[in-house]
Amino acid sequence: MSTSQTIPARSSASAASPGAFDAEYDIVVVGGGGGGLPAALFARWLGNSVVVLEKAAELGGTARKAAFWYWVPNNKKMREIGRPDEKVDFLRYVARLSRPQNYDPENPRFGLSEWEYAMCEAIYESASPAAELLSERGALPYRHCAEVPDYWAELPEDKAPRGRVLLPEAACDSMSDGGQVAIRTLSAAAQRDGVDIRTSHRVQRVVRNRAGEVVGVEAATSEGTLIKMRARKAAIFATGGFTHNPELRRNFLHAPVYGGCAALTNEGDFVYIASAVGAQLRNMNYAWMCPVSLEKAIARTPDLSGMFSVAGDSMIWVDKRGYRVVNEKLAYNELAQIFFQWDAANAEYPYLVLIAIWDQRSQEHSASSEYGRLIVPAGTDDSHVIRGETWEQLEGAIATRLQRYSVVTGGLELSGDFLKNLKASVSRFNQFAKAGRDDDFRRGERQVEQLFNGAVKEEPGRTNLTMYPLSDHGPYYAALVSGGTLDTKGGPKTTVNGQVLDDLDIPIPGLYGVGNCVASPSGRAYWAGGATLGPILAFAYRAAHAADAEPVKQIDAIPELVAADSQSIQV
Ligand SMILES: Cc1cc2nc3c(=O)[nH]c(=O)nc-3n(C[C@H](O)[C@H](O)[C@H](O)COP(=O)(O)OP(=O)(O)OC[C@H]3O[C@@H](n4cnc5c(N)ncnc54)[C@H](O)[C@@H]3O)c2cc1C
Repeated sequence: MSTSQTIPARSSASAASPGAFDAEYDIVVVGGGGGGLPAALFARWLGNSVVVLEKAAELGGTARKAAFWYWVPNNKKMREIGRPDEKVDFLRYVARLSRPQNYDPENPRFGLSEWEYAMCEAIYESASPAAELLSERGALPYRHCAEVPDYWAELPEDKAPRGRVLLPEAACDSMSDGGQVAIRTLSAAAQRDGVDIRTSHRVQRVVRNRAGEVVGVEAATSEGTLIKMRARKAAIFATGGFTHNPELRRNFLHAPVYGGCAALTNEGDFVYIASAVGAQLRNMNYAWMCPVSLEKAIARTPDLSGMFSVAGDSMIWVDKRGYRVVNEKLAYNELAQIFFQWDAANAEYPYLVLIAIWDQRSQEHSASSEYGRLIVPAGTDDSHVIRGETWEQLEGAIATRLQRYSVVTGGLELSGDFLKNLKASVSRFNQFAKAGRDDDFRRGERQVEQLFNGAVKEEPGRTNLTMYPLSDHGPYYAALVSGGTLDTKGGPKTTVNGQVLDDLDIPIPGLYGVGNCVASPSGRAYWAGGATLGPILAFAYRAAHAADAEPVKQIDAIPELVAADSQSIQV
């Protein structure tokens, strides 16, 4: 489903004529995904009338696709089982990973900026109360993943390396349906508790009074009707990132990313809407990264998922020269960085597209349709899989497939010595696999690599489950891989309570943002599984409380339009 088929593009020029609002609420929540639904519930439970305006035809956004782990420091279950997670330790860990170049254990803020430090403190303080309230009210009952490690559990700064992850109680064993479960229970609670929900409503600008306070929003329906909703206290945006806006990706991300697996409706609308009313932008250069199938990312396949665990043990990734260049089992955000290394000598991104290669063993033991796996079961969509009975045939088939994408890869093709190098790479990897130790990239040594080992075959006597020699015989399989986003994590800077800040760090009255549509304090880091949704729940909770405490804003009698091409209207 492409967005353009369902909802009109953002209108840029003529503003709707101001006038009466079509409906009126205390708090208008924009976006019905991982941040929007919890924010709406928290606001409603404080006694406000609340509407959720969702651009897509259904609720859920990217969160519906998620496993929906949520990372909650010092959570109730940790406290109950006696796992200490002190605030100072938490802050040290996140600082070490978010701004490693500034990290200083002796510094009072560990090298974080004042804003980053305060935002991380807010996560520590509010993620657990948010999770508990959602659970108590039946909106998001959870179970505790006591033994799941943080992604950098080995760092000395991680004093609580296991136990911060929660996940929806009713999620299946593979946890792949966690997002569906969460959206189902959150939506049911919203309906039960009287949150008004309107899907197929794309908010395209805010409405302000003469004092510059946000007093409402204007949305376009899928039929093209413009509707104005009054927000007596505040509008809370939770519209996700800009994964599906090529213009914003190209101009803000630090790397040439082909796309990603966020909801297709996440097109960075809030970047435009908030910029038009003077918001300052932060962290626009970073995203929650993940390897993805190059072909599916380019095709914008709606159900595209990231590769959270690269499947297979008799499997390697090679570059266009046939060389291994990375530990294929790194945690996804870290693994994705390899694609964007710049080769200054040859003026190219040599690893922008890598080639995953596996044999029949991995095909048989690691195939799954879940989590964006490249190795998929027979009978499922395997259009991205390239086959060859021999190495020679596989090379020919890869070369042919690469030609198809030449126009978006700068003419990428295999080097003349690809086959020779590939065979040497396989032979070297096979020696490592037999020894159980990868002398080149240390594959399988860290806890998170064992956690995400890609459902490899368990056999007695193996010291490193992540590696197994590739067979001397075909068939062999391959697929093209690149780095994608789960979603971006930059946008307007907010206070610790989600108030959007202008260029002087002054809150824009009545305007709030939570989730991937606003700036994350995490910088480049992906602290742990659930490190997007745990903090998002914390900020949804805080934003709802702050919005609840806002005064009711007056609407000035005489309407006046601001510049015709602005993203805001005055009334
Ligand atoms: C496959 C996959 C697995 C993941 N697993 C996890 C996990 O286990 N743990 C974790 O922490 N994170 C996970 N994530 C990331 C997580 O899903 C996101 O970080 C999270 O959903 C972000 O919440 P959000 O509210 O910011 O955005 P979303 O959940 O994407 O919601 C944004 C919503 O806003 C709507 N919208 C956009 N523009 C407008 C507009 N103009 N008007 C009205 N509505 C609008 C969108 O349609 C969408 O519904 C995963 C992501 C993917 C893709």
